[in-house]
Amino acid sequence: MVQQFKVLINGEWKDSSTGEKLDIVNPATGEIIGQAPKCSEIEVNEAVAAAAKAAPAWAGMPMSERSKLLLASSRLIMENIEELAKLETLEQGSPIRKTMNFDVPLCAEQLEYFAGTARAIKGETLPVGPWCLSSTVREPLGVVGLITPWNFPALMVIWKLGAALVTGNTCIVKPPSTAPLTTLKLGEIMMEAGIPAGVVNVITGPGSQVGEALVQHPDVAKIGFTGDTATGKRIMKLASDTVKQVGLELGGKNAFVVLEDADVDAAVEGAIFGGFFNSGQVCAAASRFYIHESVYDEFADKYVKAAKKLKYGDTMNMETVIGPVAYKAHRDTVESYIESAKKDGATLLLGGKRPTTKETKNGYFVAPTIFGDCNNNMKMMREEIFGPVVGLAKFKTNEEVVELVNDSPFGLSASVWTKNARLGITLANQIKAGTVWINEHLIIFCETPWGGCKESGWGKDLSTMVFDEYTKVKHIYVDLNEGPEKPWYGILK
Ligand code: NAD
Repeated sequence: MVQQFKVLINGEWKDSSTGEKLDIVNPATGEIIGQAPKCSEIEVNEAVAAAAKAAPAWAGMPMSERSKLLLASSRLIMENIEELAKLETLEQGSPIRKTMNFDVPLCAEQLEYFAGTARAIKGETLPVGPWCLSSTVREPLGVVGLITPWNFPALMVIWKLGAALVTGNTCIVKPPSTAPLTTLKLGEIMMEAGIPAGVVNVITGPGSQVGEALVQHPDVAKIGFTGDTATGKRIMKLASDTVKQVGLELGGKNAFVVLEDADVDAAVEGAIFGGFFNSGQVCAAASRFYIHESVYDEFADKYVKAAKKLKYGDTMNMETVIGPVAYKAHRDTVESYIESAKKDGATLLLGGKRPTTKETKNGYFVAPTIFGDCNNNMKMMREEIFGPVVGLAKFKTNEEVVELVNDSPFGLSASVWTKNARLGITLANQIKAGTVWINEHLIIFCETPWGGCKESGWGKDLSTMVFDEYTKVKHIYVDLNEGPEKPWYGILK
């Protein structure tokens, strides 16, 4: 019997008005593991009405009280770690080793971070003159819509939901259609923690219907979106009719630069994590590698040897480090990039095919794949693959490599590997990206801002900068003059 899930609207669990369902498939086995309601505009309207009704009381609650409810949610996440980790592994394909040790604990930690740091949000007093009090306050936006992707279903929603809630907004979350179950469980946990009905609503259904209805709803003040660049562009267009704010965390094509003086062994370690963590389904995944010609052969040889050791297979086995890609059509897309790389003349150094072991044959696995002899004219070096497929290219000079890195419509992240910190920082300053790591790739903390430039989007998640995304500044001016004198007297009188 396939497990049935319901959506959360106004504190109640409901089916969709049409009774239609989404099948949730385990990408490691191809089996249906659950069904979630396939909602429509009807449920979006209900959820927005519920969130709008709950908004004044939630915004009026002291920050300290909202903060305590986030801390209670964080504790409950850890109490439910096994169920959450299992759900995420089953619906998204990440190995249980990762969901238990990384995704779920980080969700709890991030709520703690938001709960603590939001209490330090301040307004300003502006010294315009002795006759007045001129100050700013930060207010919640109201009802916000949060639309999230499938690559880290729980984390991506917590990044936005934690910041939006603690600052006093009420929320409608639209999780990804292929992996909505952890988000529904997080909604349940927040109810149990004591967050009032209507403050958190979770609706499942297709982006083209539920997502677009949310984006176009006149009572939604902002859309916080993480996903594909093409979807982000569509959301921007649709949001313009209601002059809605949008925050866009979009795709990336992240460069990994190994300079002549780099510690090659350390760079190889970083390339294993950067290129293959979460089967390469990371917005910041290292996917185009520029290696100085003097260390190219050594790097390529060691990278291939290290990648061969990665254990993929049964995602419920604690030893497995690489799972499948998240769904069947996505595997087809990843495989089409492998074919394009071959056609464009890249040299296949590792992988390039489906693994065929007993454990992997029914799932949507792609073996870790490394191409050599790549260049920026190849499709696989220009477009986001979002799978365990990387390309290596040679470069000669530091000026040339900066040009190669910046020759991309994306600007999410990049890394530079060198023993010369000064040179690393010089290059970091020249690279157009939201984050540049030196001797590291893919490390993100609660305290550090995350978000790209160019077609990777705008706005920041994480750090205290995220609070700017979910609050608006109001200026309040008080005239303290007792007499009729005003600063503008000389102009009109
Ligand atoms: P996607 O754009 O297909 O879907 C993301 C969400 O948008 C889903 O919930 C989907 O249902 C919804 N959606 C789809 N069409 C919509 C529409 N027309 N209107 C409104 N909502 C719509 O992205 P995905 O495939 O789920 O996620 C992968 C992408 O996310 C990659 O490009 C990746 O780089 C990006 N991503 C970016 C970051 C970041 O921080 N920059 C983080 C994670 C993922």
